[in-house]
Amino acid sequence: MSFKVGVIRGDGIGPEIVAEAVKVLDKVAQKYGEEFQYTDILLGGASIDACGEPLTKEALETAGSCDAVLMGSIGGNTSTSPWYKLPANLRPEAGLLAIRKGLGLFANMRPAYLYEELKDACPLREDIIGDGFDFVVMRELTGGLYFGDRKTYVEEGVTKAMDTLTYSEDEIRRIAVRAFDIAMKRKKKVTSVDKANVLDSSRLWRKVVNEVAKDYPEVELEHMLVDNCAMQLVRDPKQFDVILTENMFGDILSDEASMVTGSIGMLSSASLREGTFGLYEPSHGSAPDIAGKNIANPIATILSASMMLRYSFNMDEAADAVDAAVKQVLKDGYRTVDIMSEGMKKVGTREMGDRIVERI
Ligand code: NAD
Repeated sequence: MSFKVGVIRGDGIGPEIVAEAVKVLDKVAQKYGEEFQYTDILLGGASIDACGEPLTKEALETAGSCDAVLMGSIGGNTSTSPWYKLPANLRPEAGLLAIRKGLGLFANMRPAYLYEELKDACPLREDIIGDGFDFVVMRELTGGLYFGDRKTYVEEGVTKAMDTLTYSEDEIRRIAVRAFDIAMKRKKKVTSVDKANVLDSSRLWRKVVNEVAKDYPEVELEHMLVDNCAMQLVRDPKQFDVILTENMFGDILSDEASMVTGSIGMLSSASLREGTFGLYEPSHGSAPDIAGKNIANPIATILSASMMLRYSFNMDEAADAVDAAVKQVLKDGYRTVDIMSEGMKKVGTREMGDRIVERI
């Protein structure tokens, strides 16, 4: 088959790490007899420099016409880059929000996977880590408290502030379906996180998730209160497979989840909508402090490309091969500087990409 892949090289280390992920996709194409047609798309600082705005209408249309988009990070040094002297709506990050909104990406998925070889970076105790953990946080991205009406006002001489949290059953259903679909490709367990003992929006969340679960009899569903989930993530992260939650809870829990894995250069992410389209990108930023030095860790971007194979192109075998190659390269002792430890072999961005490609 032939897939159209939008490629946003981005800013800072973006072009370097995306180049390695494209190398990996080329190897996959060659090995599995598929074809990837790449289309370059400008976003963020690169788009400001070329077109005067962080995302053009044409770039958004091109992204929407692709089967999936692979993206490096965008943005520059927020203290020194001229991009940050522009009004807020013309800065690099405005392009990121615009592309997510323009493409209707309502779900964000962040895997938390602990590699045996990088256990030392995990802040949890050895007995808690056990054989490691492997789960994803699926966060609703376009509804809830961050998008509700808000105001600050004065009542009887006292200043008050109000934010509103609204969810419709449709908004809940569409992300729940995505989470169950993803659980079907994993260990078939969904933990839906809410605050149903207090919030009406959570009670609706729970009701709709229960309805969706009926279409997935193979998937085990449990409900967990968000305060308990925050504790369970550090007490026993092994229990989770897919954590499904609303926007604000997901914002907090996904950061907690990435912290327990320890290494920022290893964390991939996907922004999804209905169907198979997705935007795949590392969780980290554009690291302008190390850009152009061939030292950035390309693994988060390579693992994002692997998620694209699995969730947008249904190429599970190829995705497994990429994930296994990453594991093997770590086992063989290769490390970029951010994950370097004593006795390991230090490699640069390009060499890390090459070592992974060799193992696919
Ligand atoms: P950052 O994630 O870019 O960097 C934080 C630290 O981690 C830096 O020391 C950096 O060198 C290091 N680091 C990050 N990725 C690495 C990798 N792959 N390999 C090795 N080391 C790595 O965060 P920041 O410095 O706060 O932000 C820099 C720019 O990135 C800002 O303009 C910010 O707005 C932008 N940003 C973009 C995204 C995105 O595109 N989705 C996300 C977060 C930040």
